[in-house]
Amino acid sequence: MKYIKRNILLNPGPATTTDTVKLAQVVPDICPREQEFGDLMKYISKELTSIVAQTDDYTTVLFAGSGTAVVESVISSVVPHQNKILIINNGAYGKRMCQIASSYDIDFVEFVSSPIEPIDLDKLQQIIAQDNTISHMAVVHNETTTGLLNNLDELGVLTKKHNIELIVDAMSSYAAVPIDMQKQNISYLMASSNKNIQAMAGVGFVIANKKHIEQTKDIRPRNFYLNLYAQYENFINSNQMRFTPPVQTLYALKQAILEAKKEGIANRYQRYCKSWEVLKSFLKKNNLNYLVDDKYHSKIITSILIPKNIDFDDMHDFFYANGFTIYPGKVADFNTFRVANIGQIDYKDMQRFTKLLKGHIDDRV
Ligand SMILES: *Cc1c(COP(=O)(O)O)cnc(C)c1O
Repeated sequence: MKYIKRNILLNPGPATTTDTVKLAQVVPDICPREQEFGDLMKYISKELTSIVAQTDDYTTVLFAGSGTAVVESVISSVVPHQNKILIINNGAYGKRMCQIASSYDIDFVEFVSSPIEPIDLDKLQQIIAQDNTISHMAVVHNETTTGLLNNLDELGVLTKKHNIELIVDAMSSYAAVPIDMQKQNISYLMASSNKNIQAMAGVGFVIANKKHIEQTKDIRPRNFYLNLYAQYENFINSNQMRFTPPVQTLYALKQAILEAKKEGIANRYQRYCKSWEVLKSFLKKNNLNYLVDDKYHSKIITSILIPKNIDFDDMHDFFYANGFTIYPGKVADFNTFRVANIGQIDYKDMQRFTKLLKGHIDDRV
């Protein structure tokens, strides 16, 4: 077997994968319309659902595409033409949902909130109470911009009270941070294959409340490829995506699911948290500041202020040469870089990273 170099990806996905997931892509060629391949997708759909919901009442619709494809699918497909969606914008990914709604001419209310502080629920409630045309609310669970974790328990209670369907972009929290769709009143949840589930990039998926997705049947489609109901209906009738699936990526996803089950989602999150604790202790000890208080932090991704005399590109190249990939920041007003502690890495990798970071900073100050 060819030796595969192990890179430590500290960018927020695609994440570091196991060799067994990488190699699961090497399979005999197969026409994906064969029943054997349909069975594979059926298995994947069911397992992905069961991480966050009961498979009797919820189902997973798969798409070929990155995470944004499924965010776009849900936003463009589930809001009736006479209604409005409220979108919480407290980071780059919330803003992206607004851009999607805007490009489809969907009537939306943008609720702008601090990228580093929790949402003001009273203010949010006031807006909802004033406008009975709002039928949906969309929020990012773990805002990957900063690591701010929006409180789904509270938003679940609020949306239930006002009879609003809740849409959650859980791209960077799914398969790590605990989620219970039924308890948290979530109608649609979006995630992708290349983050905490630790598979290859190329599959986006929507986990949906079956009753609610059925109710979207008569909404006049605003698009074709990404129409959620069409993809759902086709899958329940045939175990097939409407158009060519990313065949080998799905074999890798199946392997990644088996490995996630073996580790256990709760244990996986514990492993991630342990890496985060190493990073956090290092930052505190060295007076390096990060955005978002620990109380509201996902412990998945950290937005760190770049110290004086340090240049991001220079730091990036230094780490890249050492097998680590770091990621630029995305918050206006703060000069930051990001470190994600997801994927098949552990606290020992983070110890190596922090040691290198210390050396790099000491060399330049
Ligand atoms: C990664 C991510 C996405 C999707 O990004 P793609 O590049 O389209 O895969 C969407 N929302 C959040 C919160 C993310 O972290």
